[in-house]
Amino acid sequence: MKFSDVRSALSHARLLGLDRLDAQLLLAAALQQNRAWLISHDDAPLAPALAFRLTEQMMQRAAGMPLAYLLGEQEFHGLLLTVTPDTLVPRPDTETLVDWALELLTHIDGTPSLVDLGTGSGAIALAIKAGCPAARVSAVDLSAAALAVAQGNAQRLKLDVSFQHGDWWQPLAGQRFEIIVSNPPYIAGGDPHLPALKAEPIGALTPGGDGLSDLRQLIEGAPAHLRPGGWLLLEHGYDQAPAVAEALRLRGFAELDMRRDLGGQPRVSAGRWPL
Ligand code: GLN
Repeated sequence: MKFSDVRSALSHARLLGLDRLDAQLLLAAALQQNRAWLISHDDAPLAPALAFRLTEQMMQRAAGMPLAYLLGEQEFHGLLLTVTPDTLVPRPDTETLVDWALELLTHIDGTPSLVDLGTGSGAIALAIKAGCPAARVSAVDLSAAALAVAQGNAQRLKLDVSFQHGDWWQPLAGQRFEIIVSNPPYIAGGDPHLPALKAEPIGALTPGGDGLSDLRQLIEGAPAHLRPGGWLLLEHGYDQAPAVAEALRLRGFAELDMRRDLGGQPRVSAGRWPL
């Protein structure tokens, strides 16, 4: 099937099973217009080459490719970020972690330091730097390709974050922070939702097994990198809060606390390294 104007492109997308909003956003991006323009230009013609490219994108979207990868960008905590298949697509749920870190930062005088472990597109680190310019923000990732995306985002948004390449704590030897945050891979290896996320980097989604191994490694290593009174904030799966709290408690963290995501699921847990 072929289409040659906006209206027929949208009905083609509907036949493929796409959400109307997704179809409009793809079309608007291809035409370098916004949605308002699109809605008032139902009969605008589409050049054959553009229609061909759009057909391919619609088929990819119908097959489960995240819209963010097709558009090359994703909004997160008020920032427009470049994302590629080398980076997890930033989720609105993760804004819970950012908001919590920003609240904690308001109680720290001077120049607080914070590190984001497994930064991916840089979403968390950049949103925190944007919300608290006084903070000294570092970010670590094992993937050099993801770090390149994060660095590009930092440059474009003019946010000064120091990016480091390596495995969790390895590039941070000898460094201590007031706040450590992470959204590590935490989906269990056998989770039935995993196949639906196949376009995203598997290493950013799951450590295999019960999904807790990276969370445990972060909790184990954090005290060596926290100042006294510093906080560790971890995003986790909806059913992992009790296991994370127990691991934090056993490691010696105090003031354990938990926050829920936009869907009401337990999503972020924190502990404070005693003064
Ligand atoms: N919250 C993401 C999801 O469930 C997973 C992100 C992660 O593993 N850190 O789709």
